[in-house]
Amino acid sequence: MNNEDIQAFGELISRAERVLVISHIRPDGDAVGSLLGLGLMLEELGKEVNLVLEDGVPTVFHHLTGTDKVFREAAGVYDLIIVVDSSDIERIGSVLDEYGEPDVNIDHHPTNTHFARLNLVRDNAVAAVEIIYDLALSLSLPINLPIAEALLTGLLTDSLGFRTSSSSARTLRIAAELMDRGADLQVLYRKAMLEKSLEAVRYWGQGLSRIQLEDRLIWTSLTLEDRKIADYPGRDDADLVNILSRIKDTDVCVVFVEQTNGTVKVSWRAQPGFDVAGIATQFGGGGHKPAAGADIRGDLKRVQEEVLKATKKSLGKNG
Ligand code: 5GP
Ligand code: MN
Repeated sequence: MNNEDIQAFGELISRAERVLVISHIRPDGDAVGSLLGLGLMLEELGKEVNLVLEDGVPTVFHHLTGTDKVFREAAGVYDLIIVVDSSDIERIGSVLDEYGEPDVNIDHHPTNTHFARLNLVRDNAVAAVEIIYDLALSLSLPINLPIAEALLTGLLTDSLGFRTSSSSARTLRIAAELMDRGADLQVLYRKAMLEKSLEAVRYWGQGLSRIQLEDRLIWTSLTLEDRKIADYPGRDDADLVNILSRIKDTDVCVVFVEQTNGTVKVSWRAQPGFDVAGIATQFGGGGHKPAAGADIRGDLKRVQEEVLKATKKSLGKNG
């Protein structure tokens, strides 16, 4: 992402009147934060903005301003289409099926496929919100309190509360500047990172009860039946993978989440020194060295076998 790209983005938004902003399925804090952050900036500039997440906004982010304006489908004609926090076009689901190539791709994944006309991709950014923050500074876009809250949420969730190796002094400086604009770190941290519904914790319980460990590789699964038993409304893992990644004396953890459409959502997490992005890419997914994911067609048992085999192989474990 060079200066010319930034200026090109500035021109695109100054010319646009109706803008569509989209992020990925099973949205996390960075997807929601970058969608809202950029969307609210564009609204402040007087644009008519549509925000779309195929899966809607998870309830843990409902405290953020603008979540009530997020729809599940695009509608009508747009003169600018922007995708945020998505490494490939499949990640956004079917939102753009009738629209064709998006205009702008704002992302921080090293596995990004540069699928738009203008690709604002910087893989050393801790989160997509960091790139949006930098664009706002370069182009003098407004950052009011709701925007600062959305951006800080993305920064917090993608850095796991400033814990990931991608978190730097600059990450903390951006967080401090967002706090100077009024964003409440403690409240946002609690809402996005700590608070869990009872259903989510029951769902974890199902997964935790069948955890397996072999040669420093640890894994578990969440079935559709688990979801029903726990009455868990989402189709994600409720962040169980980040609990597994805290277990001592392990290198890599994997969570398999059975889906209703005949696929399995796989999430990998790796300790420093290990790389799971390549394995995820091998299965049609993507991500970062320490955290990656993929949606894989097949039944739970078969996907689990194949993924564990490939993971062991890629990590040099014979299993
Ligand atoms: P998670 O396991 O929390 O869903 O995702 C971990 C990382 O992998 C995130 O950076 C996320 O964007 C990426 N990721 C997860 N699932 C997919 C997928 O299906 N495709 C791609 N390209 N990236 C994914
Ligand atoms: Mn992200």
